[in-house]
Amino acid sequence: MEILNGVHQIKSPCPGDASWYTNVYVIEGSDGHILVDSGWDSQESLWALQEGIKAANLKLRDIKKVVITHIHPDHYGLSTKIKQICGAQVSIHRIDAGFIFPRYKDFADLVKKTAELLRQNGVPENELPQLKEASLWMNKYVTPDSPEVMLEDGDIISNDSFELEVLLTPGHSPGHICLYEQERRFILTGDHVLYDTNPHVGFNPQSGDNPLGNYISSLKKLERLKVHFILPGHGPMFNALGLRIENILQHHEERKRAIMRSLHDGLKTAYEIAQQIPWMVNEGGTAFQDLPVWDKRMAVTETLAHLKLLMEEDRVGNVDMDGASLYLVKD
Ligand SMILES: [Zn+2]
Ligand SMILES: [Zn+2]
Repeated sequence: MEILNGVHQIKSPCPGDASWYTNVYVIEGSDGHILVDSGWDSQESLWALQEGIKAANLKLRDIKKVVITHIHPDHYGLSTKIKQICGAQVSIHRIDAGFIFPRYKDFADLVKKTAELLRQNGVPENELPQLKEASLWMNKYVTPDSPEVMLEDGDIISNDSFELEVLLTPGHSPGHICLYEQERRFILTGDHVLYDTNPHVGFNPQSGDNPLGNYISSLKKLERLKVHFILPGHGPMFNALGLRIENILQHHEERKRAIMRSLHDGLKTAYEIAQQIPWMVNEGGTAFQDLPVWDKRMAVTETLAHLKLLMEEDRVGNVDMDGASLYLVKD
């Protein structure tokens, strides 16, 4: 679908979830198209891309650049195959590029560190094997390779019709980027800002010390931009970026308040706090124990991200007792 003049959106399917898509964008140029994000590495996504390109009256072989907003499998997964097919250059921010092989190839160390983190934060031994390996199935849908171009904040990716400025927006992923077209007044936001979902921001072995603090700064970085159209990595295109940012900030304030409330009757691990907070608030709220395993892990790491920010704000303290990390209120 041509959503803006020369910008096509293709819906790339998610393995095992027919209701969820990644938006892949083709930015047309007579000297070569730029593909923003690639979708999962699956036959279905490659087919969706092929059909989408054909429907736009374009040719797959004219994709010269593939720009990846961040290394999650639903955005990065298929990029190596596209490179093999079209000879396109793959570009990704230097920080996220550094996580490709540790995450998708030599991942034993990451699984070990994730298990240690979850155990220390109160995940019971009987739930640990499931939770620590909750993301491993995704590796099947990624072909890891070194990118041709390591991006930095402020770089420009262009063809003869468009100029996309790289904006480093860490938080959802430490090397996440948005792509800003100043003249046409649109921005591709990957998973940094979505229309109807609050992007996941979790503390994990690859997230850095304060991912939520970084995320909030990255949201504020976008507030100054003059954009008419926001092209997200999932869900519909929208406008009123400032309003949406306000909404997301409010969501995190509410979650911080819920965490503070849960700490008022005693010291708790992140796992115990996660059990007391409503999740999937967009869909009306779900109790922790009813979440699927991957969402459970995200709930624990999201709670941790909020706790790290509350510690940074000096509102929450943290002590180690018998190998468990316990949190308490300081204000
Ligand atoms: Zn993501
Ligand atoms: Zn995504």
